Amino acid sequence: MSETANRLATVRASLPQGVTLVAVSKTHPATAIEEAYAAGQRIFGESRPQELKEKYNALPKDIEWHMIGHLQTNKIKYIAPYVAMIQSVDSERLTEAIQKEAAKCERTIDILLEIHVAREESKTGWDFGELKAYIDSGVFDRLPNIRVRGVMGIATNTDEEEVVRRDFDTLKQYFDMLQPRFGVAFDTLSMGMSDDYPLAIDCGSTMVRVGSYIFGARDYSLK
Ligand SMILES: *Cc1c(COP(=O)(O)O)cnc(C)c1O
Repeated sequence: MSETANRLATVRASLPQGVTLVAVSKTHPATAIEEAYAAGQRIFGESRPQELKEKYNALPKDIEWHMIGHLQTNKIKYIAPYVAMIQSVDSERLTEAIQKEAAKCERTIDILLEIHVAREESKTGWDFGELKAYIDSGVFDRLPNIRVRGVMGIATNTDEEEVVRRDFDTLKQYFDMLQPRFGVAFDTLSMGMSDDYPLAIDCGSTMVRVGSYIFGARDYSLK
């Protein structure tokens, strides 16, 4: 078994039923994804639209691609025809631009609303108050090519477990508050990465995004 397949098996074995694994393959070559694919993984996460598109073109078509990184409106077109889910929807402008591109492709695109909970200012995501006001305006009734599936968030980058737990608890509360507005399709709470996914699951995560634990450290200098 390859190292990737080993790591993948370890993560999978630790996931309770009902928790989906997104294998975060950003910066790693297509060959790394092929190893994980051979081990049965079908859901992969990427954070750059062009990179996602190249990998989509090169790899098997039954892969579900999740966009998890900050997305500029002018890049949506690279992924709109096939992307399975855009997890990083964090502004009105982006939401409305995704509607437009999805309509062009005659598709409905699944999205998650990314909400800011971390202590770091730099982290992306909606301010919950602003998001709530946006939802209360009834806007999603006018966006027929978008299906809101849930919430995504990133915890504070710290070793202090109680801080991370507080962030995950907050995301779970936001998820529970929004769920009644969207109904049964709103079933996904995406939280937890390599360093904190067991804690995220403890706090109610239904989808974990695990990269470096499976594929090894990322080398951004290659890009
Ligand atoms: C890169 C990334 C991950 C994966 O992080 P690891 O620490 O490598 O598991 C998860 N979520 C988002 C939004 C990311 O950008």
